[in-house]
Amino acid sequence: MLIFFVTALLGRVWCGWTCPQTVFLDFVFRRVERWLEGNSSARRKLDATPWTDPQKILRRGAKILAFLFLSALIAHVFLAYFVSLPALYGMMRVSPLEHWSNFVFVSAATLILFFNFFWFREQLCLIICPYGRFQSALIDDDSLVVGYDARRGEPRGKPRDSSASDCVDCHRCVQVCPTGIDIRQGLQMECISCSACIDACDAVMTQLKRPRGLIRYDSMRALNGGKTRFLRPRVLVYGVLMLVGATVATFALSRYTPAGLMITRLPGDPYTLVDSGVINRFKVRLTNKSDTPLTFSAALENAPTSAHIPGFESITLAPQEEQVLQLLVEQSKSGYTGSFQFRIHFRSANGQIDISDAASFVGPSVEYLNAQR
Ligand code: SF4
Ligand code: SF4
Repeated sequence: MLIFFVTALLGRVWCGWTCPQTVFLDFVFRRVERWLEGNSSARRKLDATPWTDPQKILRRGAKILAFLFLSALIAHVFLAYFVSLPALYGMMRVSPLEHWSNFVFVSAATLILFFNFFWFREQLCLIICPYGRFQSALIDDDSLVVGYDARRGEPRGKPRDSSASDCVDCHRCVQVCPTGIDIRQGLQMECISCSACIDACDAVMTQLKRPRGLIRYDSMRALNGGKTRFLRPRVLVYGVLMLVGATVATFALSRYTPAGLMITRLPGDPYTLVDSGVINRFKVRLTNKSDTPLTFSAALENAPTSAHIPGFESITLAPQEEQVLQLLVEQSKSGYTGSFQFRIHFRSANGQIDISDAASFVGPSVEYLNAQR
């Protein structure tokens, strides 16, 4: 909903400024490319140079190695999100065969990233990414987009042509566009709002001593001579939905506990009669979601005082550990009054966590139990 709201107001700023594809491509890979191979005209020259040229082997070879290294780095960091950094570091110091599935994952991710950043690039935005497809449903004439001011730029012509307006038809905006479109033909689905054409055209305008902003961030309405309306039904609806989402997320986060508990009855007989009374068996799944060890003690709530749970005075879980334990609830014959509902609380030793789950204790009728005595 935040993306819906922001897109309705500011167009595809997500694509141009925040999407990991754009961020990695423009802020990392293209910078390395420019550093090793020069600007776009130098790169075009290098493309045309035969592979027998040592300069080409050196520069392009260095670029391939650098791109492979960066792709592998991103793939490793991505894997670390799932296995943790210390675990990843441990895996990197032993044979790949010991963690072959992770090794295959990282290798495949590295190759896919390399293919993407070396060659595929903005084709991902055009062919694969679904967001580019539904942006037209989120944008209207008042959304901020990268647009060409045709009223100021048309008719085009060379600088010395007195009948021409401000666009000198130099094609710089087309040459720098990573998706290969001509923004002068109007807003197109391929435009990812990267603003490269704005910079290119502003540089031309500065050289010609004409006002900048022939291509600029503006609404289609303003580019056509109208006045942009910021408050619109679409913006209000998306804004309200975004606030509802933010409220729900805040509420969910405020109730977050760094531990999890689930209690289920063990399969088999619902209860067992022993000399001392009645026993119910449960399976306890206790999880420490935090990065520090946690020690819990368990206690019953709403249970007869004669019911107790032996062996649950102190349970310590390592960081991120989950333990599945068998829990016996014992009810002595003397205090037995039949089945009852109760809760089991697990409280951390530092007193900051108190998680609980409900369960029911089942047993025979009191008359039947007394007859067994
Ligand atoms: S038209 Fe301009 S803003 Fe849009 S993708 Fe091309 S260079 Fe980027
Ligand atoms: S860069 Fe500016 S002046 Fe050059 S063709 Fe594009 S819009 Fe016209």
